Amino acid sequence: SVPVLTVDGPTASGKGTLASELAAKLGYHLLDSGALYRATALAAQDAGISLEDEASLAMMAAQLDLRFDGHRVLLGGRDITDPLRLESTGGMASRVSVHPAVRQALFQLQLSFRRLPGLVADGRDMGTVVFPSAELKVFLTASVEQRASRRLKQLLGKGVAATLDGLLADLRARDERDMLRSVAPCKPAEDAVLLDNSALSIDASVEQVLGWWQA
Ligand code: C5P
Repeated sequence: SVPVLTVDGPTASGKGTLASELAAKLGYHLLDSGALYRATALAAQDAGISLEDEASLAMMAAQLDLRFDGHRVLLGGRDITDPLRLESTGGMASRVSVHPAVRQALFQLQLSFRRLPGLVADGRDMGTVVFPSAELKVFLTASVEQRASRRLKQLLGKGVAATLDGLLADLRARDERDMLRSVAPCKPAEDAVLLDNSALSIDASVEQVLGWWQA
């Protein structure tokens, strides 16, 4: 069977970076499940589909022509790497992801990433819903303040205008939607290990998880 390691946690908890470093270290495939919800949101926006129109969104999700080419992401041949990472796209993705039919439509696509020699999957419900039998489930827990200030540094570093208050408000709204929703809420699986990476460097977090993986 194919070994799976899941990394779940709230927005801006550092999941993406941790998961991609782990995948690189282990030589495993990587599933950035948030990118699937983000791409669905962008595709819906392009097609003029409302973020409340569950049936059309699900159809869109089921037909996503998404390709991962190294660090670039292509949607129907178009390079969406930059728009995919926008905060506004994350907000739209969070609205798209509340619809059960959309989650269902993306389920098989997510499973298809489980290939030898192994998979590192990051998201909100990787350990609870999509890969419940994963060998190791990590759940990141950093406070909203820590996540907002980390995200602020990232954005300012990229020359993107942002304020701490604005980011805090965005993260709180997104946390509320992601954690309180009835379908696949963002929460640790019963057998998940919690990792508070607030005060840890990326390298230290990677080492910690590799230690658990090899144990
Ligand atoms: O992780 P990322 O910020 O890319 O995710 C964008 C949004 O997609 C999240 O706010 C969440 O609502 C949704 N999502 C989800 N389930 C996942 C991954 C992401 O509902 N497994």
